[in-house]
Amino acid sequence: MAIKDRILTGDRPTGNLHIGHYFGSLKNRVELQDKYETFIEVADVQALTDNFNNPEKVQRNVKEIVIDQLSIGIDPKKATIFIQSMIPEIAELTVFYSNLVTIARLERNPTVKTEIAQKRHIFGESVTYGFLGYPISQAADITAFKGTIIPVGEDQLPLIEQCREIVKKFNTIYGETLYMPKAYLSTNKRIKGLDGNEKMGKSLGNAIYLKDSDDEINKKVMSAVTDPKRIRKDDLGNPDVCMVAYYHKLFSKNSLDNICAECRGGKRGCVACKKELIANIIDHFKPIREKRKFYEENLELVDKILSEGTKKARITASETMKDVKKAMKIDYKI
Ligand code: SF4
Repeated sequence: MAIKDRILTGDRPTGNLHIGHYFGSLKNRVELQDKYETFIEVADVQALTDNFNNPEKVQRNVKEIVIDQLSIGIDPKKATIFIQSMIPEIAELTVFYSNLVTIARLERNPTVKTEIAQKRHIFGESVTYGFLGYPISQAADITAFKGTIIPVGEDQLPLIEQCREIVKKFNTIYGETLYMPKAYLSTNKRIKGLDGNEKMGKSLGNAIYLKDSDDEINKKVMSAVTDPKRIRKDDLGNPDVCMVAYYHKLFSKNSLDNICAECRGGKRGCVACKKELIANIIDHFKPIREKRKFYEENLELVDKILSEGTKKARITASETMKDVKKAMKIDYKI
């Protein structure tokens, strides 16, 4: 089966995108849309697996996440943006693929194991069937749109491995039907939170969002963790333990050497250092925030992009469904 490589990626609409997403995957996504046909899923069904009791949150964030994507430079002429729940073929494929995966295999999936441990506050001791099975639904997402390249971080590799197993098993039992996807491993590192936590996240309260105002950026950076041993400006500092220096690496590349040298030599005050970072972050995200403002003022355009993208995605998914049903001998002509 020869096919032009196609990217399938997406975001869960559970909150706005932050600089962790931006440096971790979004910048890369903007570059990739020029090289490959790109499908971007707003994964509302997946978001509901651990937000089933808070549908308002998911609904509220669908457009927010699309505006974030458009603001960073996703071009709807190059990328198809669609809403997962509006493609019923994904749910159908999930049911079919469920026969090809054992519960023990899902429970062994390292990504699922880690996430279940992190979500004890939601699930308690017993995880839902829907959450345990989300790798199956993800395999349905990928294969419905004939995704062949799936950008992921290292921690998500087991999900792609599980999807590949499903594709292999399906094709072995029912005949060559599904395209085999491969992971596109991002070389970008995970970005740490303002408090030094390895992960930046909304629930951790340590994130700078792409939509944050100047004032919010200012407040957040001023509270970032610095070298705790430094009390006075002329104390010799250690930028290696300072989150402000860490973010300067992202936003102030040209002056980084100088910043670190001045810090180590006790020639730089932490307040001035933070102010410089704030100015650079605001400057970096200015075009993104201007674009966001444009889409916020033209919400009908966002609706149109989503509607057209979803229609296009549905056509692809229904083609896949036809092939799948034929292979499974459930394409009744009655
Ligand atoms: Fe961090 Fe800058 Fe203070 Fe050094 S001078 S500890 S890099 S904030």
